[in-house]
Amino acid sequence: MASELESEVQAIDRSLLECSPEETSGKWLQATDLTREVYQHLALYVPKIYCRGPNPFPQKEDMLAQHILLGPMEWYICGEDPAFGFPKLEQSNKPSHLCGRVFKVGEPTYSCRDCAVDPTCVLCMECFLGSIHRDHRYRMTTSGGGGFCDCGDTEAWKEGPYCQKHELNTSEIEEEEDPLIHLSEDVIARTYNIFAIMFRYAVEILTWEKESELPADLEMVEKSDTYYCMLFNDEVHTYEQVIYTLQKAVNCTQKEAIGFATTVDRDGRRSVRYGDFQYCEQAKSVIVRNTSRQTKPLKVQVMHSSIVAHQNFGLKLLSWLGSIIGYSDGLRRILCQVGLQEGPDGENSSLVDRLMLSDSKLWKGARSVYHQLFMSSLLMDLKYKKLFAVRFAKNYERLQSDYVTDDHDREFSVADLSVQIFTVPSLARMLITEENLMTVIIKTFMDHLRHRDAQGRFQFERYTALQAFKFRRVQSLILDLKYVLISKPTEWSDDLRQKFLEGFDAFLELLKCMQGMDPITRQVGQHIEMEPEWEAAFTLQMKLTHVISMMQDWCALDEKVLIEAYKKCLAVLMQCHGGFTDGEQPISLSFCGHSVETIRYCVSQEKVSIHLPVSRLLAGLHVLLSKSEVAYKFPELLPLSELSPPMLIEHPLRCLVLCAQVHAGMWRRNGFSLVNQIYYYHDVKCRREMFDKDIVMLQTGVSMMDPNHFLMIMLSRFELYHVFSTQDYGKRFCSDITHKDVVQQNNTLIEEMLYLIIMLVGERFSPGVGQVNATDEIKREIIHQLSIKPMAHSELVKSLPEDENKETGMESVIEAVAHFKKPGLTGRGMYELKPECAKEFNLYFYHFSRAEQSKAEEAQRKLKRKNREDTALPPPVLPPFCPLFASLVNILQSDVMLYIMGTILQWAVEHNGYAWSESMLQRVLHLIGMALQEEKQHLENVTEEHVVTFTFTLKISKPGEAPNNTPSILAMLETLQNAPYLEVHKDMIKWILKTFNAIKKIRESSSTSPVAETEGTIMEETSRDKDKAERKRKAEIARLRREKIMAQMSEMQRHFIDENKELFQQTLELDASTSAVLDNSLVVSDMTLTALGPAQTQVPEQRQFVTCILCQEEQEVKVESKAMVLAAFVQRSTVLSKNRSKFIDDPEKYDPLFMHPDLSCGTYTGSCGHIMHAHCWQRYFDSVQAKEQRRQQRLRLHTSYDVENGEFLCPLCECLSNTVIPLLLPPRNIFKRLNFSDQPNLTQWIRTISQQIKALQVLRKEGSTPNTASSDNLENMGEFHFPEGFRPDFHPKNPYSESIKEMLTTFGTATYKVGLKVHPNEEDPRVPIMCWGSCAYTIQSIERILSAEDRPLFGPLSCRLDDCLRSLTRFAAAHWTVASLSVVQGHFCKLFASLVPNGSHGDIPCILDIDMFHLLVGLVLAFPALQCQDFSGISLDTGDLHIFHLVTMAHIVQILLTSCTEENGMDQENPTEEELAVLALYKTLHRYTGSALKEIPCGWHLWRSVRAGIMPFLKCSALFFHYLNGVPSPPDIQVSGTSHFEHLCNYLSLPNNLIGLFQENSEITNSLIESWCHNSEVKRYLEGKRDAIRYPRESNKLIDLPEDYSSLINQASNFSCPKLGGDKSRAPTLCLVCGTLLCSQSYCCQTELEGEDVGACTAHTYSCGSGVGIFLRVRECQVLFLAGKTKGCFYSPPYLDDYGETDQGLRRGNPLHLCKERFKKIQMLWHQHSITEEIGHAQEANQTLVGIDWQHL
Ligand SMILES: [Zn+2]
Ligand SMILES: [Zn+2]
Ligand SMILES: [Zn+2]
Ligand SMILES: [Zn+2]
Ligand SMILES: [Zn+2]
Ligand SMILES: [Zn+2]
Ligand SMILES: [Zn+2]
Repeated sequence: MASELESEVQAIDRSLLECSPEETSGKWLQATDLTREVYQHLALYVPKIYCRGPNPFPQKEDMLAQHILLGPMEWYICGEDPAFGFPKLEQSNKPSHLCGRVFKVGEPTYSCRDCAVDPTCVLCMECFLGSIHRDHRYRMTTSGGGGFCDCGDTEAWKEGPYCQKHELNTSEIEEEEDPLIHLSEDVIARTYNIFAIMFRYAVEILTWEKESELPADLEMVEKSDTYYCMLFNDEVHTYEQVIYTLQKAVNCTQKEAIGFATTVDRDGRRSVRYGDFQYCEQAKSVIVRNTSRQTKPLKVQVMHSSIVAHQNFGLKLLSWLGSIIGYSDGLRRILCQVGLQEGPDGENSSLVDRLMLSDSKLWKGARSVYHQLFMSSLLMDLKYKKLFAVRFAKNYERLQSDYVTDDHDREFSVADLSVQIFTVPSLARMLITEENLMTVIIKTFMDHLRHRDAQGRFQFERYTALQAFKFRRVQSLILDLKYVLISKPTEWSDDLRQKFLEGFDAFLELLKCMQGMDPITRQVGQHIEMEPEWEAAFTLQMKLTHVISMMQDWCALDEKVLIEAYKKCLAVLMQCHGGFTDGEQPISLSFCGHSVETIRYCVSQEKVSIHLPVSRLLAGLHVLLSKSEVAYKFPELLPLSELSPPMLIEHPLRCLVLCAQVHAGMWRRNGFSLVNQIYYYHDVKCRREMFDKDIVMLQTGVSMMDPNHFLMIMLSRFELYHVFSTQDYGKRFCSDITHKDVVQQNNTLIEEMLYLIIMLVGERFSPGVGQVNATDEIKREIIHQLSIKPMAHSELVKSLPEDENKETGMESVIEAVAHFKKPGLTGRGMYELKPECAKEFNLYFYHFSRAEQSKAEEAQRKLKRKNREDTALPPPVLPPFCPLFASLVNILQSDVMLYIMGTILQWAVEHNGYAWSESMLQRVLHLIGMALQEEKQHLENVTEEHVVTFTFTLKISKPGEAPNNTPSILAMLETLQNAPYLEVHKDMIKWILKTFNAIKKIRESSSTSPVAETEGTIMEETSRDKDKAERKRKAEIARLRREKIMAQMSEMQRHFIDENKELFQQTLELDASTSAVLDNSLVVSDMTLTALGPAQTQVPEQRQFVTCILCQEEQEVKVESKAMVLAAFVQRSTVLSKNRSKFIDDPEKYDPLFMHPDLSCGTYTGSCGHIMHAHCWQRYFDSVQAKEQRRQQRLRLHTSYDVENGEFLCPLCECLSNTVIPLLLPPRNIFKRLNFSDQPNLTQWIRTISQQIKALQVLRKEGSTPNTASSDNLENMGEFHFPEGFRPDFHPKNPYSESIKEMLTTFGTATYKVGLKVHPNEEDPRVPIMCWGSCAYTIQSIERILSAEDRPLFGPLSCRLDDCLRSLTRFAAAHWTVASLSVVQGHFCKLFASLVPNGSHGDIPCILDIDMFHLLVGLVLAFPALQCQDFSGISLDTGDLHIFHLVTMAHIVQILLTSCTEENGMDQENPTEEELAVLALYKTLHRYTGSALKEIPCGWHLWRSVRAGIMPFLKCSALFFHYLNGVPSPPDIQVSGTSHFEHLCNYLSLPNNLIGLFQENSEITNSLIESWCHNSEVKRYLEGKRDAIRYPRESNKLIDLPEDYSSLINQASNFSCPKLGGDKSRAPTLCLVCGTLLCSQSYCCQTELEGEDVGACTAHTYSCGSGVGIFLRVRECQVLFLAGKTKGCFYSPPYLDDYGETDQGLRRGNPLHLCKERFKKIQMLWHQHSITEEIGHAQEANQTLVGIDWQHL
């Protein structure tokens, strides 16, 4: 069907292509009615080009449209061939200095934290890199699409607005130059004509709402019955719903449905069916019916194809306009003019208006096209930007209302352009003054929140879903308000003042609706039934927080505005709480001779609200006033006289009392909603405009009233008045058990009240309250955060409030208060408080949560103890108050305060009772300390003419008056100093008394009224001495005790060892078992060690004892005993692969016998080295399996391991395992027979073996003939010359115990199953091959790791690696005993034939295509199967040696054939023996390859490449024979340094001149070399027709990552989904192994793998990493590990910011740089095959990781 359509389109092509753009434009130039002419052209051609069938052909359509429709317009504009016309225009253009690059989704954007006017000012990467800001503090984010680069916008940057590229033009640009002067009159006129027509056409057709009728002037003569069933996007239905519905409605496959749904989601609409009206209508009804049940149905329209055609062209046209205006600013100016020109219908009839106003009716694709056009035209032209801003502001209300009811996200709404307009300071200012924008925004916002209670306050309770939806959307208006306010005016005009204050009025109206909202009443008796709604109110508060702060900032800039705003705010507050009219009864309180009028009000009984934005705004303004000059100079100008302090404090006080009562447990029955509200009230996100301002408001009130009065009102609100006015309250309740709860409640309330007083006096770090600046404030915050513990940068940032620019101001002060400690390989960089800052620590810092407070207290006391200081934490010295707040300090020396202090101290003295708590006392002591500090300050700063009125020391020295005659506060402190129950506070009391004396001295010296001498001081002196002695004695006691404990502990340790001997032995033995073999000093000292061959160093057999980790029983490893096994994990691996495109297609038919040297897929075996009895392990595994089955039946949960696949966790270390390796003694020793002295040389040996092989082959041929019985075989051999001593009928007895044999089979089968990914089959002939392969591959992997890290070959390997390699090698060597002898012999024959051809094996690869180490391992390990039938006297050792030599020779030839030595033509002076030999060998090769081998380079080069190329092979062989035969390694190879070539040769029984091997065996070598070279593949390679692996193979590395993370983001932003073509990928993910970028976590790129749909990453792991993958999720900056389909975890990325922290999710946006060490660590995990293990550990640690559908990534 597709091809049919294709040809149809092709057919049209030809007829259409005859149409010439030049002719058409010529016709238009002549036309009298151009509009009609053009419309006719469009009416005729558009339907012929667009929408010719069910599927779009975008390329074809675009090509035709360019030729027939757009071409003529371009000709028309240029008046000549546009190929010449446009470049001319471009040349004469003076381009704008704005960059204006529109961001793609995911593109990196940069904002300078030092110079950007607000965080929305961003640069594209190119501009950023060319700007001065790259050296500033910047933030990096990824764009969500939309928005453009602000480079060149002088209003966006405080400094450096131009990058290098855009700066070039600025000098030439004159202000406000008209870009039209660069165009000729003709061009202007023609452009104007065609733009006007085309823009109108596009607007008309895109906003066209009829479904089957076109506008009259576009209607066709004959109309076909061709319709589209058009499906539109909405944000209600899920992908799955849409896909399901489409499959049903239009009968498509799931793939097609996914395609439709993806396009609908991206473009906003997609036709899902094409045909006649009926056919489409039918599909529509099915879709509507299927989706109407849940919510509103999907939007579907049946549209005539010609309408869709015109609309598609309309979109094309808009993009075309966008690109045409790129040629010249003049053209752009014309388009702006056309767009904003008022139409015939007056207001709102310009094309731009029409588009904006129908925005919410347009589909997504259409919207984004015209938004982009707006951005590249209107927003790029300074003159028209202003005009457009006015249009936008005028339509603001309508656009926002459309948006609120529309269901598309904000980014798809034209309302979102507000950020582009409002953040331009000059435009914002203009819109405020001319369009009253502030008021408009606030009013629009209020209009959408109509639901109010009786008092006119917002009511969010019982919001319907729709209202809630609207509420969510309308919040974006607050953001607009923020944009408008974000840049503050530098100059005020009267107009601006007036309009701002008007806006401020509107804002107050808004706050008034919030003042007192969500009131709550204490629940008594029953718990509340339903948690009341509270989040909406807090959301509103949180969103408004910055706006409220910014309003204050604006006010602060102008005194007139400030005073006006203050008055307005006060007036509104009076309206809210004017008088005490809520039926509150006036009462009068009296205390200590003072009395005050107040009202009867109990927080615990009446309504109270936490929302008081009006009071708080007033508090903010009051602080600003206090900071202003007026306050100092003309306080009478301030409206302070209108203030009623009791009214000001009332509501904030209620709010704080509420918090205290909640803390005292009085509001438990009100549920969690209240707890949450209290939490947010103090939280860093809200506190600045909530809690902090309430404190300020109370400070304001107290500073204006008699402190005694305030304290009485406070006592009353805290409902504590009676406690302190009742005589002997303490005594009365001390024995009264029945009131225990009430008393405890009261205690908490008293503590809270004292805390509040501490805050009121102590919190003077807001500029305006105290004489401080903003830096002091932030310093203090940081000091207190770091007093809790050292913190990382991000933690610290989180604990500080951010301003509207997302700045905390922390960087500017952090150096002054903290040291930075760099991170290690894991963890983060930390800030630590400087010790000298500790004295500024205030235990009662008001932003501490309770938990933080106690942590900080503990930390600070610990620090003091460490420094051998006393542990008192006295209040710090505070800065002075500002004048307006100065009288606040008097609260400390007020009568009521002194009375409260005295009373509490009294209770403490008579401490037997409930009516008293230690923290109460601690607070009183703190308050006394504060008062003393205050007095000391006053005395030190006193000037001559001033009398110090702060006389706290005098007041506390006086005893109470009659009738009570209580002792003075000072006297009581002295009493308490020695109270044994107050040990903790002793230091603090001592500090108080010391300070008291110091003040006394100052007073005496300054001859102010002397303080009465009290006997206490003498007492104090003597007690101090006593104390000293006491402390000394205690220290001595402590020392003795410590010593005793130490002695006890070492005794205990001895006991422990005795009792747990087994355990210790086991660990010792484990060590011994590994070190014994390594430690050659035991066996050899100076002797040369030889690992193999007849000269092999004989090692006395060592007995090995091991302990089972499960049953703790010890056992010796012996041939005939029960099997001991190691937990092991076998996995497929491509870590060493040199060819990632290779893939095992059909594992059932795959022949693994020969490993290709590209090592494309190997089997790696790892082990944690933990040993168990085979039967113990089996029992353990069975129980795990049974448990897992039960668990899976109950809960359908996954585990980190897959039991069905044989996986389990090591019972000791929880390491992921999937099989076990049996532990064996060196297996060769078992099969060794007597050594005959006369051993054959290589030539003889090869002959003998060849004969034996031939004999076996003859036998096998006979055996395979059906009519011959196998027993007759030997007799029938008559005519065949039988090798001497060869007995093919001999079958050796298996020496191993049943249990060991079973384990040999188990591990062998597991290797086979995992390595080939097939079902287990222990009979399969490939099992032994897989075992040898895994042994070879694992050794090669380890060798690579050691080389990569430059570690010596036999250096200290980790125990687990050493154990694993030994067991694996010995296992592989023993495996043939459980396999079929003839199978193993067959393998040997075939392997052998690859080096010594015998003509009977056809399919043997050429030596270029064989990995020699795999071949070696295979031959050596298969050889015993042949040798065991050989009784001629050839020993196993001899065979090993000859095999090794033979393979080494083949490898040398391999290396020489593939070496690519550069011919340098230099003759060598004195060639060495080796060089001469290698040159000779090379010549031989040259001869046998028929001179195809390159000309002979010099021997020096050749020898060098042989040595380098063969090293890895020699190292692997050394490891292999070392573990196989147990010969210790020579000490030289145990240390790193030289290449060890000679040592290796000696150890491996090779001549140092390797070429000597060829010379020694010259009889046979030539024929061997000839057979190797005469291969057609070798020939093809030498002729350059194919490639081959060269040696040495380089180690694989993870890809190179850029130093700067943003270049990765940039790279990913240019990456589009490979399936959907142009669409940007949402989760671009980089494979760190091969560098492929993938479109992860998305439907579009799902593929089917083994019958399951998997995401791009999982699919990629199968081809790239045989199931294991390491990825970097670029948008998230997160490393992803995947293994198989079900396993995965996230790993911390190798990118760190300057503070030593990663930024997973890119939330903070600090610049990120590559940390090489961390990246190396990831590479190491990969090299070590530990990815799967790492995932296992991560999943065990974090169970939520198990639930993630990793296969969809
Ligand atoms: Zn730019
Ligand atoms: Zn730029
Ligand atoms: Zn900057
Ligand atoms: Zn056991
Ligand atoms: Zn383990
Ligand atoms: Zn890859
Ligand atoms: Zn994709």
